[in-house]
Amino acid sequence: MSNYRIETKCVQGGYTPSNGEPRQIPIIQSTTFKYDSSSEMGKLFDLEAEGYFYSRLQNPTCDYVAAKICEMEGGTAAMLTSSGQAANFYAVFNIANCGDHVVSSSTIYGGTYNLFAVTMKKMGIDFTFVDPDCTEEELEAAFRPNTKAVFGETIANPALTVLDIEKFAKAAHAHNVPLILDNTFATPINCRPFEWGADIVTHSTTKYMDGHASGIGGCIVDSGNFDWMAHADKFPGLCTPDDSYHGITYAEKFGKEGAFITKATAQLMRDFGSTQSPQTAYLLNLGLESLHVRVERHCANALAVAKFLKNHEQIAWVSYPGLEGDKYYETAKKYMPNGTCGVISFGVKGGRKAAEDFMGHLKIASIETHVADARTCCLHPASSTHRQLNDKELLASGVSADLVRLSCGLENADDLIEDIAQALAAIK
Ligand SMILES: *Cc1c(COP(=O)(O)O)cnc(C)c1O
Repeated sequence: MSNYRIETKCVQGGYTPSNGEPRQIPIIQSTTFKYDSSSEMGKLFDLEAEGYFYSRLQNPTCDYVAAKICEMEGGTAAMLTSSGQAANFYAVFNIANCGDHVVSSSTIYGGTYNLFAVTMKKMGIDFTFVDPDCTEEELEAAFRPNTKAVFGETIANPALTVLDIEKFAKAAHAHNVPLILDNTFATPINCRPFEWGADIVTHSTTKYMDGHASGIGGCIVDSGNFDWMAHADKFPGLCTPDDSYHGITYAEKFGKEGAFITKATAQLMRDFGSTQSPQTAYLLNLGLESLHVRVERHCANALAVAKFLKNHEQIAWVSYPGLEGDKYYETAKKYMPNGTCGVISFGVKGGRKAAEDFMGHLKIASIETHVADARTCCLHPASSTHRQLNDKELLASGVSADLVRLSCGLENADDLIEDIAQALAAIK
């Protein structure tokens, strides 16, 4: 599949049936797998042979879908997880332990911010949050001798900042650590972070990939580019024997192409068990088959709505990286020339109260804690997803009190615009 274009990979990647096998990926709804002898199964436990023995570690349906996403991102190995939260937790925890430090963009998803700043902090991992628009010097100053990774979002949810990927990759690599990027909003259709120097990509597959709000899921993809062994002192978990796995040294046995995902599967999946179910993976694959078609429409609808909002007297400001004149328009043009995402944020004149009233009058767009599915939906982050943040943290994460996040679905753009127009008229 690797020579085909991304549209073909969306439809056909990850699974190629042999003669007489099912055309659609089979749902292997089985927790376990049968073997003829204990010694055969023993080889799997020792990671000496490839195969399945227990679906908490690996399941064929999930692996077909992970392989498809891996091809779409241009990586060397991938795994599905139960959620985007699990994907980001595993991606960071796979290389950062108690006593370590991570540099992260401050404009990241609220759930990820909380995971890092509160929960992983309790585990002894320190995070320094930097403004994604910081200078190279400011970024440089965030690093410590015990820094193990740099983290950011290609397009931040909900701040819609677009990361200067090359700036972050350069800083990470100057300090011999990988850049981990959450590519949920851009999707590999619009941005392939590995082409710009990112080392690990994560996804909340819950969003555009699934695309129909049918299943929570996540994915981690490794570019295979980061040379762990060249910086073995920084990454003992990958570069020294794992006593809990018969003394295997992941980076030695699986090389830079496979070490990261094998370790995350063998250790973290084994111990934490955040697996995606085969049923959900099957639904995710149905979404992936049309991702390239849907993303294009999401972006076209969002651009039409953004242009309408920009010229409306009741709208205080509009943020959409695909809109000419947006602060991130040029950065977006560079890293995602074909489009950005279907999500817009804007402020309704009158602040918090006006925003909430406006949302109450929308008929097509429903109020949901969600983005990126076929149906248009909207949210007021300051009173919902981000309510655990104080005002200072809200501002640092790029969310103001009047911000309305609108996720444009696949409906007719004129219908969406007329719906917004009547809701604005109703609060006038
Ligand atoms: C939704 C989201 C997550 C969390 O994913 P879940 O599947 O809800 O756990 C992480 N990152 C981004 C950018 C998201 O939009």
